[in-house]
Amino acid sequence: MAGMATFRLSPPVTKPTGLVIVETDGCFVDGIEVSTGASIGHRTLRVVDMGKIAATFVDVQTGKALRLTPRPGIRTLAFKYAAQTEERYLAQLHGYQLMPDNELLEQREIHLQPSLKELLSTPDARVTCDRCGEEIINQRELAHEGKVLCITCAGAGYYVAGEALPAKSFEAAKETEAPPRREQ
Ligand SMILES: [Zn+2]
Repeated sequence: MAGMATFRLSPPVTKPTGLVIVETDGCFVDGIEVSTGASIGHRTLRVVDMGKIAATFVDVQTGKALRLTPRPGIRTLAFKYAAQTEERYLAQLHGYQLMPDNELLEQREIHLQPSLKELLSTPDARVTCDRCGEEIINQRELAHEGKVLCITCAGAGYYVAGEALPAKSFEAAKETEAPPRREQ
């Protein structure tokens, strides 16, 4: 909400005039989604997993980007604002709601790298990887020794490919008599 107020943005951020970049997944992002209305589907929310509770708000029209992070020591400071409890969870739950934004958060102007233009890309761009043959959208390809490669084939992906399963394995999975697995 503090980030939205700084840019005088009102939720939901579903138009490409605003962009929110979060630096972790998890329930923190649920809060960001609820308070901004930004979403991955609208391309107004990005997760760049750095394992940090931090969010950057970008005014796409001006290119101005502000990164908000919690100030050090706020977990302890929360007890000052929620003096009626000694429980850490409740102190944070209530304390953070009462604490002024400037005590809770630090704002820092940042310069996006890659640039905002590269981050937003051209949505209808489409090429094929010269190595794996898969289609690459949003200008995420890399040029390598005269070839067009996807990020994975260029060696910067998140997996190492194993064997492709036979086409019939989809049907085999449906025909199995085992009950569907349920999340615990
Ligand atoms: Zn590839």
